[in-house]
Amino acid sequence: MKIVCSICKKEMDYPFEQICHRHPELELDLVPPNFWDIKDYLPEFEIKFSNDGKIIFPKVRKETKFKAGNTPLIKYDDNIFLKDESVNPTGSFKDRGMENLMNEVITHKKKSISIVSCGSGAISAIFYAREYGIKSIVFVHKGISKSSLAQIENADKVFYSKDFVTSYKDFMKYSLKHKDVFWGFLNTNISYMLGLRSMSYEIIRDMKSVPDVVIIPCGSGMDIVAQNLAFREMFNAGVISKIPKIGVVEIIGGNPIKQGFEKKIDGWLNIIDPIDSKTILSNDTCFNYKKIYDMASRDEAFFISVSDKQIDKFILEHPEFKAKYDYTSISAMAALDEYKKTSKEKIVVVLTCKNRNGGKIYE
Ligand SMILES: [Zn+2]
Repeated sequence: MKIVCSICKKEMDYPFEQICHRHPELELDLVPPNFWDIKDYLPEFEIKFSNDGKIIFPKVRKETKFKAGNTPLIKYDDNIFLKDESVNPTGSFKDRGMENLMNEVITHKKKSISIVSCGSGAISAIFYAREYGIKSIVFVHKGISKSSLAQIENADKVFYSKDFVTSYKDFMKYSLKHKDVFWGFLNTNISYMLGLRSMSYEIIRDMKSVPDVVIIPCGSGMDIVAQNLAFREMFNAGVISKIPKIGVVEIIGGNPIKQGFEKKIDGWLNIIDPIDSKTILSNDTCFNYKKIYDMASRDEAFFISVSDKQIDKFILEHPEFKAKYDYTSISAMAALDEYKKTSKEKIVVVLTCKNRNGGKIYE
């Protein structure tokens, strides 16, 4: 597989250790944005449809007890479906990318992986790493929920930073210094991203039609980048007749992509301009800013910002959602309420992660 750095246009063979190629002028406190583009795929990442509509996933290189994907698509209302990613093995969509990521660690002959996360990403990585015999080194901040922390303590080593921004800095300092440890930065890792995109293939297979809109909480933006890529692949292969638009859900006050898009701030460097770097770093969405900006420019994404108040209102009216799903997932439901759908539009809402306080904690 060939990948291209969109900054200097240098081409590299993949798997390539991405931390070895740096553009310090673009880094936010040492953390690089996702400036990587894929030129062509390795067959092991290709997902296809057979003639009878079945998806052919790439071969699994190592069978583990964690089978990600094939999550239910639930009919919620006329023309509205929920894709329940919380039932993945460790409770979030991130499980879909871990098989690829761990294989990459092994390809690089590394015995351990460093991860920075405020919850679900680390939990997923820890359990998959263990299956592959890889040591997990996790950076978290002290503010994460107790139930997430209880799971994260299963890692081989945990570093606790005082806040979110510091956990990213500590993670980068450690990873730049320890070249024997694989840099597991989920916000830019290509193998991981390619694993995530199986979700969109399942949506098309299970709906047997093309949704107009897929509403996804933004998070680091990697899920949105992956699903857009999957829809583009299916469109280019003639499997679907149009590319569904992704409704990018951000929280009001923490919606730098929407703000940047409205101000037409195109580029990696310039995002630092209107919003201070601390805000950017504390909203890890920004690592995929340019990619989501480009999607919105092609009319393949649009923004739905919701307030905490709107989310709280939804929870009050639907307590069953709070028991099952985390706050980010529920922001997507509030976004559905906010989005004034036309009567004919088919919408899928992606519920990304389970509530680790209310739901059963993975054991
Ligand atoms: Zn470059």
